[in-house]
Amino acid sequence: MHEHVFMQRKDENMKFEDLKLNNALLAAVHRKGFEKPTEIQEKIIPLALEGRDLIGQARTGTGKTAAFGFPILQRINPASHVIEALVVVPTRELALQVKEELADLARESRVQCMAVFGGQSINVQAQHLQRKPSIVVGTPGRLMDFMRQRVLDFKHLKFLVLDEADKMFDMGFQEDIQMIVSQLPKERQTMLFSATMPEPIRRLAEVHMKQDKEYINVSEDKLTVDEVDQYFIAVDHKQKVSMLSALLKHKNVQRGVVFCRTQRTVDWLSRMLRGKGIRAEAMHGAQRQTQRNRVLDAFKSGRTNILVSTNLVSRGLHIEDITHVINFDFPQEPETYVHRIGRTARQGKRGEAITFCTNLLEVQELKKIEDITGARIKEIRPVQKVQAQPVHAP
Ligand code: AMP
Repeated sequence: MHEHVFMQRKDENMKFEDLKLNNALLAAVHRKGFEKPTEIQEKIIPLALEGRDLIGQARTGTGKTAAFGFPILQRINPASHVIEALVVVPTRELALQVKEELADLARESRVQCMAVFGGQSINVQAQHLQRKPSIVVGTPGRLMDFMRQRVLDFKHLKFLVLDEADKMFDMGFQEDIQMIVSQLPKERQTMLFSATMPEPIRRLAEVHMKQDKEYINVSEDKLTVDEVDQYFIAVDHKQKVSMLSALLKHKNVQRGVVFCRTQRTVDWLSRMLRGKGIRAEAMHGAQRQTQRNRVLDAFKSGRTNILVSTNLVSRGLHIEDITHVINFDFPQEPETYVHRIGRTARQGKRGEAITFCTNLLEVQELKKIEDITGARIKEIRPVQKVQAQPVHAP
């Protein structure tokens, strides 16, 4: 039985006014033009306002930041000038993105937020901390640095959010997180968000969260998949690049993400595409932060049409209006597939996902993905498909 069987539907009539948010937060809701709460907001906000520990199985893009942000902002005292909330996130991009969203939601509430992350001068960030933010958003490594140097004082901490916990574990931050959490006051409210719930994450929740914690699952992954038209193309390994460039040109892809398995392939493929006159740029974890920001800006502003990336952007980053996701390299896990294709078809728009299969095993793997997502992945047979090996499902 699949998870979505257990998922409750969203109440279409629920309004933000029903969620017992204060006027400052309702003013933020109106200013930002949020018409009604998303599913996760509707489920998390009432419980979080009661002070319950929560596990939310949901991804970025579901309105998760406001789901934990509103209740925290409502219950923080902006005049106390101590750190009352800590949000731990896996990447620098997400730290900045979450901090910006929280700061924006907090405009009327006048709560100060700050982000700390690697790749920027530790001294500059330490100086900023003297402004006494109430909310700190940080990546595990930099938080550990600051805690070791006793720059951050969490004595008065009341709220802890672990965001994208599975991603943090995947990135090897498991011990850092254990260490950070074990140094925080025990009397606090903890909210943990994760797109998947593998055993180590469940254990973390068992050890560090209250017994009566609530588990909330939103069906976003399933819904997103429903809104993506999914295809695969059987293609010979050697023909992948020419197939890709033909596809991007034929479909006139304005904003697409091409996923590769390794950083080397990302660099190489983006060069190959540029050589074929396609405005493509590479993005992966080995790049400097300034470079990543530059690429991201170019992509967001439309100067670049194609972002060639590792799984780095398959989660967490919020980029609007991605029309196509192409799995140049086959995703290693069905979950990776879902996360990757979930970058398109956001906010009610449809999107298209195309997966290259270079052997029979990959085609069989797609069948498994179909079973998990309940969606069909249709084969595209390009007319001028060049010498591709015939690869068919059994
Ligand atoms: P997040 O999942 O927190 O990254 O949020 C994704 C995007 O959705 C952000 O740009 C939010 O500002 C936006 N958002 C959050 N809540 C709502 C809502 N209730 N209605 C419309 N947009 C929202």
